[in-house]
Amino acid sequence: MQKLTAQRQAILDMINRSDKHWEADDVAYALKEEGVQIGIATVYRGLAALAEQGLIESIQLADKKRYERADKAHHDHLICTDCGNIEEFCEPEIEALQDKVAAERGFKIEGHQLLLFGLCKTCKAGES
Ligand SMILES: [Zn+2]
Ligand SMILES: [Zn+2]
Repeated sequence: MQKLTAQRQAILDMINRSDKHWEADDVAYALKEEGVQIGIATVYRGLAALAEQGLIESIQLADKKRYERADKAHHDHLICTDCGNIEEFCEPEIEALQDKVAAERGFKIEGHQLLLFGLCKTCKAGES
């Protein structure tokens, strides 16, 4: 594997240090807090490159991407469209159904993402 630039290494370290689902802005802000001088465009490019290399996971939301550590166990996401909160879940029945769908069609699954969009418990309570 090619060596990462110092900036990409700093981005990777930041993401690996927490369980958060990061937006590019959050990464840029957190790095600045630590005294790392990095432009937002560099953060965007760095995140895309790290995801491409499989060093981090990317989640495609409606309008932007979030990134998280690549070494977590497989899970899917509940995404609040109001506050942006992301909750993780893994439901064995859903996982098994996906395998069944693929098997019936002679399809080999290499990966999947399941994103459920809606209102989290807190936002739902505030709505009524
Ligand atoms: Zn919410
Ligand atoms: Zn996650």
